[in-house]
Amino acid sequence: MSTTQGLTLALSKGRIFEETLPLLRAAGIEVLEDPETSRKLILPTNRDGVRIVMVRASDVPTYVQYGGADLGVAGRDVLHEQALAEGGSHGLYQPLDLKIARCRMSVATRADFDYAAAVKQGSRIRVATKYTEIARQHFADKGVHVDLIKLYGSMELAPLTGLAEAIVDLVSTGGTLRANKLVEVEQIMDISSRLVVNQAALKLKRDTLRPLIDAFAAAIA
Ligand code: ATP
Ligand code: MG
Repeated sequence: MSTTQGLTLALSKGRIFEETLPLLRAAGIEVLEDPETSRKLILPTNRDGVRIVMVRASDVPTYVQYGGADLGVAGRDVLHEQALAEGGSHGLYQPLDLKIARCRMSVATRADFDYAAAVKQGSRIRVATKYTEIARQHFADKGVHVDLIKLYGSMELAPLTGLAEAIVDLVSTGGTLRANKLVEVEQIMDISSRLVVNQAALKLKRDTLRPLIDAFAAAIA
């Protein structure tokens, strides 16, 4: 664990950080610096011994699993993708769906690509995504033949450049898809962020963790 005293919470920049702030506030915790303007990777809070570490969204489960953080907030997209890749769950305790950073994982194509016809004909479809494990499972379940192309960002660009016919990506308002003349052709799963807790911390820091988890739960309800 991070320290014998105190609590370390792993968060990522953007929606997850912004939407976790009200939950922290409900638990009496104020973050004292803004990660968008601060260069610090460890942010202090108003509570002695409670600190925030800012990590990549996909690194949150790793920090919590190995005790670099006692708890963290991670998207279902990241948790599910990594669980499939590792052939099981991380041994992370996931006590709460925080219902924040909500979106869905979808298949999208160019508006002029006839996805339904390609599926019906049994054509091989090239699919670009960061979520290769979730995509592999989804298309296998549907019996759709795909060649998966792993990307690390800007998936929308793939169908526009001819790199792929389809993408699997997160969609919330659909604004980014529309701006790039892409259409959502299939929804794979609903996404929200979950609280993840280190198993050892849960036992050893129960007296600090339990009230925090309870305060989050009350704030969501
Ligand atoms: P990095 O910036 O470190 O490369 P990233 O760009 O892969 O990370 P983000 O796009 O910042 O990750 O998303 C982080 C998390 O926020 C995702 O894992 C997901 O759970 C959530 N998220 C991403 N996009 C949306 C969205 N459009 N609406 C709501 N939540 C989202
Ligand atoms: Mg990002």
